[in-house]
Amino acid sequence: MFQKPKGTVDILPKETVIWHKMEEVIRTSAANAGFNEIRIPTFEISGVYRRGVGNTTDIVQKEMFTLTDKGDGTEMCLRPEGTAGVVRSVIENGLFNEAMPLKLYYIGPFFRYEKPQAGRSREFYQFGVEMFGAASAYADASVIALASDVLTKLEIGTTLHINSIGCPECRPKYRAALCEYFKSREEDLCPTCRERLKTNPLRILDCKSPICSEIAAGAPKTIDYLCGDCADHFEKLKQSLDALGIAYTVNPKIVRGLDYYVRTVFEFISDDIGAQSTVCGGGRYDGLVGQLGGPALCGIGFGMGLTRLALALKVLAEKGKVTLPEINAPRLYIAPMGEKAAVYALRTVKLLRDKGIYAECDIASRSLKAQMKYADKIGARYCMVVGDNELEAGKAELKNMTDKDDRCEIVLDDICAVAEKIAK
Ligand code: ATP
Ligand code: MG
Repeated sequence: MFQKPKGTVDILPKETVIWHKMEEVIRTSAANAGFNEIRIPTFEISGVYRRGVGNTTDIVQKEMFTLTDKGDGTEMCLRPEGTAGVVRSVIENGLFNEAMPLKLYYIGPFFRYEKPQAGRSREFYQFGVEMFGAASAYADASVIALASDVLTKLEIGTTLHINSIGCPECRPKYRAALCEYFKSREEDLCPTCRERLKTNPLRILDCKSPICSEIAAGAPKTIDYLCGDCADHFEKLKQSLDALGIAYTVNPKIVRGLDYYVRTVFEFISDDIGAQSTVCGGGRYDGLVGQLGGPALCGIGFGMGLTRLALALKVLAEKGKVTLPEINAPRLYIAPMGEKAAVYALRTVKLLRDKGIYAECDIASRSLKAQMKYADKIGARYCMVVGDNELEAGKAELKNMTDKDDRCEIVLDDICAVAEKIAK
């Protein structure tokens, strides 16, 4: 017997209905905000991520699932995130020639070689959004508003944390201040962060080890080092969020784990799901398109972890705060007795399904008792037993499975009347 690979999950039918609900909310909200879906490959040439996400990030250094092309030995990588691949596609397909801003979204699986734990798996799903060609803070606010809308509609309580990590102009000054601060505490940092101090000190602010977090709490803050333009941008973002009625806290610790971000970075943190509580993270990436060989085109986006959202919904349902959708149950179960009745049942079920009504009948040649047990198990709303007598009379009794008083006689061939009765 085989078992699923470490860090993967089987999403079984009882749970896929939760996913359908999430996806429905997402697609509706995205469409209302003018975002169109893009579907890109689940693997790319590794360089897309090495160059796009950054060589010093955890994703590239530790978390890539790589594979080798059998033909020419090119190193490929299962996509660990969506932005770099979307940017590659925008450049390759010349989408930068379309009307700006270009607004794209995607839903799909992503892969990271991580230590699996609750809310952290090696294959996980994200809803991602990328908006290109709008540089103002209003664009940042409208992208954040979409994430907020989805979370609100799903009734998942979160806190929005925002920060600005500046731009290539103000970052060197900040980086110097940060290096100076961390150098004074170098011996206390974890080995990875001691390395980060040389390569990418900003990453230390993101470290999950308790001691590094404690040291990071006293570190200089990016917002104190912003250049005039970045400070204006951040001010305008806050004003826009206020105007939209979206509550936030400014959190100087939010720096995000990817190299491509500039200015605005943000996270939505769930109040309900324990340690892995960031359900959505994003930010502005103005230099990325150029870095991957495209024109100078600014961008902003986010990735929302659907695996964590599903977890949040289950926790909320256990607390009685949300109602989870249930598996589709048939409106009618027809229990045929004999060959002729079986054919009638099959045909009637088909006619009802054609009308958009879910109906079932016996297709396993079971006894009447076994059929009724089955109808009950699958939650059929109505049932109808049809045998030779009923066929001859052209009538049968339609019964509500849970309400004994709700029963009536129907004409077997009057599909419209049956449909009307059971659809209620
Ligand atoms: P974390 O700090 O939790 O590792 P991250 O910064 O690496 O998150 P992002 O790259 O911002 O995550 O991805 C966006 C969202 O995707 C996260 O906020 C999270 O909800 C989800 N996510 C990321 N990695 C995983 C994973 N391994 N398993 C499940 N969900 C994940
Ligand atoms: Mg991570």
